[in-house]
Amino acid sequence: MRIGAIEAGGTKFVCGVGNESGLMEDSISFPTGHPEETLPQVISYFEKNRVEAIGIGSFGPVGLRRDSPTYGFITTTPKPGWAQYPFLDAMRRHFGVPFGWDTDVNAAAFGEAAWGAAEGLDSCVYFTIGTGIGVGVYAGGRLVHGLVHPEGGHVPVKRHPEDSYPGGCAYHGDCLEGMAAGPAIEARWHAKGHVLPPDHPAWAIEAYYIAQAVTGAILMLSPEKVILGGGVMQQPQLFPLIREAVARNLNGYVQADEITERIEDYIVPPRLGAKAGLYGALALGLEALGETPARR
Ligand code: ADP
Ligand code: ZN
Repeated sequence: MRIGAIEAGGTKFVCGVGNESGLMEDSISFPTGHPEETLPQVISYFEKNRVEAIGIGSFGPVGLRRDSPTYGFITTTPKPGWAQYPFLDAMRRHFGVPFGWDTDVNAAAFGEAAWGAAEGLDSCVYFTIGTGIGVGVYAGGRLVHGLVHPEGGHVPVKRHPEDSYPGGCAYHGDCLEGMAAGPAIEARWHAKGHVLPPDHPAWAIEAYYIAQAVTGAILMLSPEKVILGGGVMQQPQLFPLIREAVARNLNGYVQADEITERIEDYIVPPRLGAKAGLYGALALGLEALGETPARR
């Protein structure tokens, strides 16, 4: 089986071709420009690499309700040219194959559930902490959509007692994204995250915010795995800080060995690393064919 995968990010696009066992034969990547510039690159890739279905995990917000006129659209993005863009229709005009379509973070959660850290489990939550914060939710063996799609990057958080940074979210100021995304770290400390040393106070504050959202996700969704990815999570010292803060927040209330005994295997980085989204798009393509991912 040859399945196409598209990880449509706000910064770069990745296209690939893989099979039902999660073997990616080929992939290419190019910067995200205007749609009139970027779509032809995607189309030309899949004209050269013919596939039976294509899965797309896209930056958003995106339209996921099949009964809505904006199904398959990228909706309210500030990215030039992409607001109210009918991405899925633009692809369908060129390729008469089944399409899978979801958010980039839901795709990442799906990829990790298929071939990554949540392989074999029925549920996981995937947080990406980068330029923005996004959350993907896989529950009961499927991705959660609902009214729109999960927007857990914008949950309210309690302010750290030593933090006077006002918050950078255009909508909410000091929500999780406003306080903990990469640009908030940079604005608070006047330095990019990757130059701050591992013992810098920035990381305890960062972990304090992320742990609140993780605690909320555990209580609300009871996921079997929590996966934390994105550029900011390239700081490995964050993982123990977040695990400790989550354990402290829960205070023994959730009685599961995964949390009380083995939290280092419960709150983890993506096993597929930066490729979780692309593999998730592959799994979305398979799903569009009515197939389920096979174990590697
Ligand atoms: P995007 O969210 O744009 O798709 P990333 O997930 O790479 O891309 O996130 C970019 C953000 O992560 C930037 O704000 C950047 O400063 C921050 N970042 C990238 N690498 C690191 C690192 N090693 N340590 C801390 N922060 C990082
Ligand atoms: Zn917000």
